[in-house]
Amino acid sequence: MRESKSLRLAVTVSLTLVFGAVALAQQQQQAQPDRPPQYRQQPAPLTLEKISEDIYQVKGGSGANAGVIIGQKEIMVIDAKMSEESARQMLDEIKKISAVPITVLALTHSDGDHVNGITAFPADIKIIAQEETKRYMDEAFKDEKQRAYLPRIKTFVSGGPKYDLGGRKVELRYFGPAHTSGDVVVYVPEEKVAFLGDLYFAGRDPLVHRHKNGNSFGLVKVLQSVLALDAETFLSGHADKATRADIEGMIQALQEKQAKIKAFVAEGKSLEATLESFGLKETPPAPPGRPRFMNLVEVIWLELMNQQVTLKPKKT
Ligand SMILES: [Zn+2]
Repeated sequence: MRESKSLRLAVTVSLTLVFGAVALAQQQQQAQPDRPPQYRQQPAPLTLEKISEDIYQVKGGSGANAGVIIGQKEIMVIDAKMSEESARQMLDEIKKISAVPITVLALTHSDGDHVNGITAFPADIKIIAQEETKRYMDEAFKDEKQRAYLPRIKTFVSGGPKYDLGGRKVELRYFGPAHTSGDVVVYVPEEKVAFLGDLYFAGRDPLVHRHKNGNSFGLVKVLQSVLALDAETFLSGHADKATRADIEGMIQALQEKQAKIKAFVAEGKSLEATLESFGLKETPPAPPGRPRFMNLVEVIWLELMNQQVTLKPKKT
């Protein structure tokens, strides 16, 4: 009797340990930043590339490209790199070229490679993001040091705030769901420059995060709104600076893919067959607690299928 009791206790203890270890492993996995394969490379040294008078693109280091806009009174940084170390390096590089204080951090969206370095910024920095971006960061941030920055993020839902950094006007614009549901464009009208975050990709299909309510048809609309801005130079997270023709090219490629998949869906072609006609396979499932980065064909197919389902009247 006593023996079986102690056995039961031992089983309970070891099960608790096993489940505890699994939960911990899952937590650790969740705490890791979003890292699609294209970001998993040895980072190049961090540099500031001059785009125009007082506008720089931050390249290299860990995570996506970031941006710098220097006014006479204030400096705005766009995106926060993927690690505190890289973000600190970026702030040091900015201090080498200007004595103007860094006062505003604008976030283009919530992906880890654009926001995880937030803790390198001074505690009194003004942070601005679209509301959905803050929500996704709140979901993703597990680290207490990162979480301490959440209450400091000012959000907006539509339109976007305007800043005067001292002789340098900057407009933040939200055009709707595209790469995620919280993408912000940072527009410098006088320089005809726009920072697009991950709304633009070059030489590859754009990433559309379904797990963050991104939408490929939304991406087309948002890029059309971007072209309606009086801008000539477009900076983004994972590409070199782009022109209006580059953006037009991406819209066209996206629309052609959507039309092709629409025809397949109308024919009743399965996801597998659709992917096969593009020489692709279904994205493998992600490890527990990590999002699945679907390829564009899969995203479009699912969007069109959902549309079809909602358009069909429900059977009673
Ligand atoms: Zn992204």
